[in-house]
Amino acid sequence: MRRVFAPELLYEDGGFQTGRAVVCENGRIAAVVEANLEPHALRLVGRAMLPGLVNAHSHSFQRVFRGETEQRRAGRDDFWSWREAMYRAAGRLSAADLYRVARLAFLEMALAGITTVGEFHYIHGPDENPNRIALEIVCAARSVGIRICLLRVAYARAGFNRELHPVQRRFLEPSPERFLRHVEELRSQLDGEYSWAGVAPHSVRAVPLDYLREVSQWVEREKLPIHMHVAEQPRELEECRAEYGVTPIALLAREGILSSRFTAVHGIHLSAEEVQALAHAGASVCACPTTERNLGDGIVPAAELLGAGVRIALGSDSQAQIDLLEDARELEYHLRLKNLERGLIAPADLFRAATEWGAASLQVPPDAADFFTLDLRDPSIAGVPLESFVFSASKSAVADVIVGGEFVVRDRRHDLAGEIVDEFLAVDP
Ligand SMILES: [Zn+2]
Repeated sequence: MRRVFAPELLYEDGGFQTGRAVVCENGRIAAVVEANLEPHALRLVGRAMLPGLVNAHSHSFQRVFRGETEQRRAGRDDFWSWREAMYRAAGRLSAADLYRVARLAFLEMALAGITTVGEFHYIHGPDENPNRIALEIVCAARSVGIRICLLRVAYARAGFNRELHPVQRRFLEPSPERFLRHVEELRSQLDGEYSWAGVAPHSVRAVPLDYLREVSQWVEREKLPIHMHVAEQPRELEECRAEYGVTPIALLAREGILSSRFTAVHGIHLSAEEVQALAHAGASVCACPTTERNLGDGIVPAAELLGAGVRIALGSDSQAQIDLLEDARELEYHLRLKNLERGLIAPADLFRAATEWGAASLQVPPDAADFFTLDLRDPSIAGVPLESFVFSASKSAVADVIVGGEFVVRDRRHDLAGEIVDEFLAVDP
């Protein structure tokens, strides 16, 4: 299948070019050529075409309680009190509900220009088939039309010397052997092009060290992406010090678990040595600024990480908002508020975080024909110098979304939007 797109402007090597056309064959980019060589190309008049956004960290089910935890409450409200509300949602949703909620989250992602999602998936039970829910989530992404890397989560305990929360039973994979067998089974059912698997030991808190070592050795052999929540909360660091005498990053570095396939999700509370350890290993950090500000987690030291050579991916995480360009500019804005200084990260690097560095973290096929377009007449960007579009483009400017050379969203419309929203609204809250 051959498709040729000739937008008014094409984003190439960090800038916008005119008179260019993208030739797609069998879902991959075959060539980028002068548009006048392709007289039958589809002209995208008034559109700038850019590489598809990659959402490297999502828990799709958390979309179901968006807005429910924003009222001021008695007592301290923080990540841990928010987690109680999240557990109520995780405990009550059936596999069919999880599918409907995931479809809505993925629809919202597609409409925001996201072409691949990394779903950090930890609700496995109770079900005869331990991959049933994972497969429902994959089907949800494919029905919407975006790619999905299903990061299957390993979860063995509540924490060091902590009793299990009843809802956490749905997350459990008590042994590495069982977990890896389930990952293998899942892998054999995915197509490898539009859906594939990675592994995600939940956190140092939830996966003991022996288990982690075994999963990490397997990942080294299989060359899959490995993602882990790391350094999101001060309490997590304290608990790790109490158990192992070091912080999570220091532990992972000492054990040789950090690698170019490793992504530390959050990476907020980092020392200078830990930043160097991530850089030395070639590991990535996945920042989730819209969630991190919503939960009061803290600020990712993005300029320091990039300065050391650590790639940053972005995730919508709790789905408090689904707007990856907002996550991209917040990397910079949070540092401005903290440092009382502007211009700390180049806009082109903010966009790399939303695209190529996220794609590397999830192992998206490098020549995947995935794009979104911006409507150059959208009020948010009309007349704006486009080199700083990351700061100005609101998601209302996203007009078309193309995955594997095919339209998923065209002129801001997704064919299944009405049905997906209706089914979501019928989920019993
Ligand atoms: Zn997360």
